[in-house]
Amino acid sequence: MELHPVTGWTILCDFDGTISVEDVIDSLLDRFGRPGWETLEQDWRAGRIGSRECMTGQVSLLDMTQEELDKHLSSLWIDHHFPEFVAMARAANTPIRVVSDGLDYAIRRILGRYGLDDLPLAANHLAPATPPQKWQLTSPFQAEGCRSGTCKCAVAAQASKGGTKTLLIGDGASDFCAADRVDFVFAKHRLIEHCRAAGIPYVPITGFEDALELLPRLLDGSLLAEHAPATPALAVAS
Ligand SMILES: [Mg+2]
Ligand SMILES: [Zn+2]
Repeated sequence: MELHPVTGWTILCDFDGTISVEDVIDSLLDRFGRPGWETLEQDWRAGRIGSRECMTGQVSLLDMTQEELDKHLSSLWIDHHFPEFVAMARAANTPIRVVSDGLDYAIRRILGRYGLDDLPLAANHLAPATPPQKWQLTSPFQAEGCRSGTCKCAVAAQASKGGTKTLLIGDGASDFCAADRVDFVFAKHRLIEHCRAAGIPYVPITGFEDALELLPRLLDGSLLAEHAPATPALAVAS
């Protein structure tokens, strides 16, 4: 049996707003949140608390049955081109991992509709609590000194340790610190301006239709060559 060579890239992909069209937790709070979740949201936006404290509190304010949760999740959509993008990455032997500060159960459930619930996932853990209709959040991918639920910078740092280059695909504030630690970014929305201001090599995308076109150019090295920061001395030496 012949082994295909690895491409030398690992892909880390955000979920809410990147793979999914809507933010899952926001949509659940709108529908099932008991009073108090808005205050937590304001505290988080003002930087008074981190996302882990914010979401742990918000999830404890969700009032919904398992059936209501599943029914709601079945109404949420993903980017139509994401399954094709995963197939392309897999065909190119490029590992892809979902790294999310959202809810593991919701992500698996939504991706399961597309046969993609086997994608490796780092996210917060949603579990039923007692009494019934109550829920609790734990954060198995938190890191010391970081206020996020899932510390994406730690995940990104770990991914690059393996000796491969790392691509991040994301859209928002939860992706900022990971963007600083990867080799290239496909950026949506607020992440575009962050990458531009920080001098991170990136291409702006509107969705996975763009990512499908860009991935072959990332894997053959041409994208990185075009967007690498100007380092004339190194360019001559190589
Ligand atoms: Mg996002
Ligand atoms: Zn962190």
